[in-house]
Amino acid sequence: MPDYPKTDLNTVRRLAKRGVYDEATVHAIVDEALICHAGFVHDGRPFVMPTIHVRTGRTVYLHGAPANRMLSVIASGVPVCLTMTLIDGIVFARSVFHHSMNYRSAMLFGTGRAVTDPEEKWKAFEALTEHIAKGRWNDARVPNEVETKTTAVVAVEIESASAKVRTGGANDEEEDYALPVWAGVLPLSLTPGTPEPDPRMENGTSVPEYVRRYTRTK
Ligand SMILES: Cc1cc2nc3c(=O)[nH]c(=O)nc-3n(C[C@H](O)[C@H](O)[C@H](O)COP(=O)(O)OP(=O)(O)OC[C@H]3O[C@@H](n4cnc5c(N)ncnc54)[C@H](O)[C@@H]3O)c2cc1C
Repeated sequence: MPDYPKTDLNTVRRLAKRGVYDEATVHAIVDEALICHAGFVHDGRPFVMPTIHVRTGRTVYLHGAPANRMLSVIASGVPVCLTMTLIDGIVFARSVFHHSMNYRSAMLFGTGRAVTDPEEKWKAFEALTEHIAKGRWNDARVPNEVETKTTAVVAVEIESASAKVRTGGANDEEEDYALPVWAGVLPLSLTPGTPEPDPRMENGTSVPEYVRRYTRTK
């Protein structure tokens, strides 16, 4: 798959070796993340909003109430920066200075637009639902006319992107390796708990496979 071209905008400068620009890596992070943070400027002030997203090709869709500041500003065609962050572990070093995290993060740059085409909007609803739980769209009641009208969808075309990936253990100073301080990695991951059925669940409705075996990784 093609790389996102490296430019002044998307080139990771600090610890540049952790910068990754191939589409497969960037998109895998975007797709695994349950939420993104949408950054934009409104009235001269930056806002960074956590929100649900989905990627289709090089387009990211966001949705919500039409009066929502984030959606109306992004729909007006302003530059947007979307960030997705996955935490893989805490890196404990012998020195406080060298503590770190193992992570995979993606930053996407693009321009927003309102999604007004009914077919594109419908596909975005389906993609958003499937992004959270693959299989849910065909199981749950789909949006009715009122719900569809009262939900705004915006698209951000990805014009530039980067990923940054840190793996491995602590990088301590040579003289610190002799210190009797525990060092190592505490792996962290998103682990589903036991499903808690709604108290008004009809008898006989079993927990779907995509809930029982929920995972974010492919
Ligand atoms: C969980 C986590 C914790 C972090 N903690 C710290 C911290 O405590 N202190 C700290 O200084 N840094 C931290 N970072 C790294 C931080 O995100 C930046 O990478 C760092 O500030 C380096 O910026 P820069 O000056 O090299 O690049 P900038 O000039 O700020 O960025 C240039 C371009 O590089 C790309 N880029 C930069 N960082 C990332 C990224 N993380 N993911 C994807 N693309 C990126 C973007 O396209 C950006 O436009 C953390 C990252 C993560 C994911």
